[in-house]
Amino acid sequence: MTAVPDLRRVLILATHPDDDVIGAGGVILRAIAGGGCVRVLFITNGESNTWPQRAMLRKWRITAADREDWARLRSDEAQRSLESLGARGGDCCFFLGYPDQRISELLRNGDTRLQSDLDRHGSEFRPTLVIVPSFFDIHTDHRATAWFAHKAFGPEIPIATYVVHGQAPPMRALFTIRLTPAEQKRKRDAIACHESQLLLSRRRFLAHARATETFYAPEHDVIRVISPMQERLAALRHALRAIAGALRH
Ligand SMILES: [Zn+2]
Repeated sequence: MTAVPDLRRVLILATHPDDDVIGAGGVILRAIAGGGCVRVLFITNGESNTWPQRAMLRKWRITAADREDWARLRSDEAQRSLESLGARGGDCCFFLGYPDQRISELLRNGDTRLQSDLDRHGSEFRPTLVIVPSFFDIHTDHRATAWFAHKAFGPEIPIATYVVHGQAPPMRALFTIRLTPAEQKRKRDAIACHESQLLLSRRRFLAHARATETFYAPEHDVIRVISPMQERLAALRHALRAIAGALRH
């Protein structure tokens, strides 16, 4: 374990609205309390979140228009949540609008637009620390975000990873933030801003406001193992699509 890194300019990647506060609400509070600057990039707006939406709308079939409304609702909640932690201003919150539940599809298709967007934000914001989802997260969108993030931010940029679903190997822990009771309450209140997510799992959701936040070592070593396999699979899919297209003509 190492000391808490430099929090002057913290760039946080959240695959869905709420991952930021669940994973790094304490870091956001500490960075801002220390005069630092925080930027959160929401990769998706979390629009494919059908069960809570069905419960809220009291109907089974969710249309494309319903999903758009849900995306707006979730991005409003995310903004309110960040504001409650003190992160304000046009520079602190960006919604990249990639398709929810389909980030791994971008990866499989060899689509590198997300990597370019992350690269651009990195060059523009010049973070002292980047906090990104982990390959050890069991959510496929989180793992795909981890892949794009490690590709975009080279080893020269300090990276810490976080897990929302599942667990990372404890020996990879890099640093831990212990929240004071007051910080823990603010984190809980910020999580509670995501009212749409409290509908079906209030207790489980608020339980994310734990007394500690642990971050893990960058995963360039993991990506070195995964990347060649990933690229070979993408090339194979590309070739199969080309063959299927040729056969149709
Ligand atoms: Zn998520």
